[in-house]
Amino acid sequence: MKEYHILSLSGGKDSTALAFFIKENMPDIFKKTELVFCDTEHELPEIYDYLNKVEVFLGKPITRIKPYVSFDQIHSIYGFLPHPACRWCTVEMKTKPFRKHIYDKFNAQGEGCVYLYIGIRADEAHRVKTATSTDNYINERFPFVDNNIGRSDVIKMLEDVGVGLPEFYNWKTRSGCYFCFYQSKMDWINLREQHPDLFKKAMGYEFYDCEKIKKGSFSWIQNLPLKELIKPENIEKIKMNYEKKQERLKNKKTPEKLINMYGDYLVDEDEECENTCLFCHL
Ligand code: SF4
Repeated sequence: MKEYHILSLSGGKDSTALAFFIKENMPDIFKKTELVFCDTEHELPEIYDYLNKVEVFLGKPITRIKPYVSFDQIHSIYGFLPHPACRWCTVEMKTKPFRKHIYDKFNAQGEGCVYLYIGIRADEAHRVKTATSTDNYINERFPFVDNNIGRSDVIKMLEDVGVGLPEFYNWKTRSGCYFCFYQSKMDWINLREQHPDLFKKAMGYEFYDCEKIKKGSFSWIQNLPLKELIKPENIEKIKMNYEKKQERLKNKKTPEKLINMYGDYLVDEDEECENTCLFCHL
């Protein structure tokens, strides 16, 4: 029977660790698995650098899948910025090109099936149901869930193989586009410090003339355009709240279960699993 195996890398830790896990524990599968990255062309430079490094460590090329049309063109058609309730960016720039790639590689009219490997961890197994496709020729596989692999295992795995974590984890919690609306206010402030040019580009997408517009989203953060966010009094408040939150996380009674550290950056696991996109942030 015809089989096609595929793993989509986001540039984040979980999907990357899954590639190394499959290489180590399922070598026959690894040989026939295509590694792909759906590039919105608006990812962080750290992601592109990391994927180049991952390719070397895995000894296998990563296919870069590009969108058919640019974010700017799609933006002009929709007329508003993507937001959590209307994630047209993921649909148009990742899901559709990815499905077409699978379809082209594997003739869906024929017999057989596609095995899609997804890096959902055992500690977030409840997300499995949202990752199950309606296409009956696609079989999702969740090796981390099946093998009880959690967050600290993933981090250790990446350290053990020598590739480590992507550098952006020093200042933000998730992979994805530099303008992703899922990022926290603190991530936005860090983006401005780390990549002022990208922050400026993100600002350029915001639209203030809301008079003519009846629906949709025109700032990346609801009701807080970036030009407001960067007012000194707002930056001060956001940094203060962030520090307080970090303190709270440090003082949680069961830190080994509830929090983890990327460098100096404390992350609330519950929050990490909420409000994220499986395609972009694994
Ligand atoms: S990372 Fe964020 S902005 Fe980029 S495609 Fe995914 S959800 Fe959309």
